[in-house]
Amino acid sequence: MHDYFPKDLKIWNYVEDILKEVLISYCYLEIRLPLLEKTEIFKRAIGSITDVVEKEMYSFQDRKGNSLTLRPEGTVGCVRAIIQNCLLEEKNSHRFWYLGPMFRYERPQMGRYRQFYQLGVEVFGLDTKDIDLELILLTNRFWKRIGIHSYLTLEINSIGSQIERYQYKKELVCFLKKHEHLLDKDCKRKLHTNPLRILDSKDKQVQKILEEAPLLSNYIDKDKNVDFKNLCKIIHSYGIKYKYNPILVRGLDYYNNTVFEWKSDKLGSQNTICAGGRYDFLCKDMGAKNTSAIGFAIGMERLVLLVKKLNLFSETIEEVNIYIAGIIDQSKNIAINLSEEIRNEYPKLKIFIDFSNQKIKKIIKNAINTSARIMILIDDEHTKKEYFLIKDLKKREQYYFSRNELIKKIKIFFE
Ligand code: ATP
Ligand code: MG
Repeated sequence: MHDYFPKDLKIWNYVEDILKEVLISYCYLEIRLPLLEKTEIFKRAIGSITDVVEKEMYSFQDRKGNSLTLRPEGTVGCVRAIIQNCLLEEKNSHRFWYLGPMFRYERPQMGRYRQFYQLGVEVFGLDTKDIDLELILLTNRFWKRIGIHSYLTLEINSIGSQIERYQYKKELVCFLKKHEHLLDKDCKRKLHTNPLRILDSKDKQVQKILEEAPLLSNYIDKDKNVDFKNLCKIIHSYGIKYKYNPILVRGLDYYNNTVFEWKSDKLGSQNTICAGGRYDFLCKDMGAKNTSAIGFAIGMERLVLLVKKLNLFSETIEEVNIYIAGIIDQSKNIAINLSEEIRNEYPKLKIFIDFSNQKIKKIIKNAINTSARIMILIDDEHTKKEYFLIKDLKKREQYYFSRNELIKKIKIFFE
């Protein structure tokens, strides 16, 4: 779990602001949900024999003996919330987004942490492929706005329904059993618990065996396959690079039909930045009426890592606009008072007051280092005459303004 400090958060905020702007432009609405949920809802919805539930959840008992879990992902809590608050009865469809920490007890490594942030989107009540397309276009717009679209590829697949996957699973297990001696330890275990997840294996030998494995697409309803092909065609017509990946499956049980991941080749083995798909049966399974749904989640650490790696963030944002220094004790009150008045008139200006008691030369040096445009110096001599000394740190000029003049004229430095 990481601590984040201002240097990094500058990049985080820069990226988050872009993501939020795009979400607003698609009329998605923000929701904020608890970090804790009852353990049983994750077990039921994600599937009790998935990696997340088997190994990765932070679960504990509260004082009354209820088992609670720090959320490992956002979808399940979101479905719980819309059911509990009857949102599906108020309106047939919803488009939501959220940003916040998730928790998984994993082996920490680059791009994989125990507390990590996800920006997630969940859409409820829309069952045609139009919304699948909208989510692909929206994510693509994220990458374009951030400037990383040429470093990401969309991988997409259709994984059918749970019943179709059940049939397929049987065939897959049958095929893999013939090669069981060649599977690694993890895959051998999954053969009996979650065989579909073997398709995800990074082991070279397993990948080789999988080349001959039966294909999920052969077990899926023909109409659904046509729908999926049409979706791919439209995605292509928007100029989005995509790769049909017939062995792309998701780690959680609740997905069906369209699933997708955005991957980058610049991130090493933790290369998926954004992953999502349809989950048309989850709402009903959790007690709501039948409601189609689709969503995705972006791993914020991985996204920020990519932005850093590609040097896409330039530190042009000024942290300080006006640097005020009072060099004698009594002038600090004047400095505070003046800064409040400036903020009243110009709420967006960033005003820093130096309380350091350092020598004037050092103070000026500090002011220059902040890249502030102007510095206001409050010393005994000028205060007595009711004038302030203003230094234009860019043009290296200086002026003397009365308080009224100062408030009026300050804007010319920031036009
Ligand atoms: P992975 O295959 O990398 O373990 P996952 O299938 O477990 O991913 P999802 O549950 O689909 O991941 O989560 C969506 C996104 O959240 C991932 O694509 C990734 O960017 C990010 N993510 C997931 N787990 C972590 C983690 N432990 N640390 C940082 N980011 C993560
Ligand atoms: Mg994982």
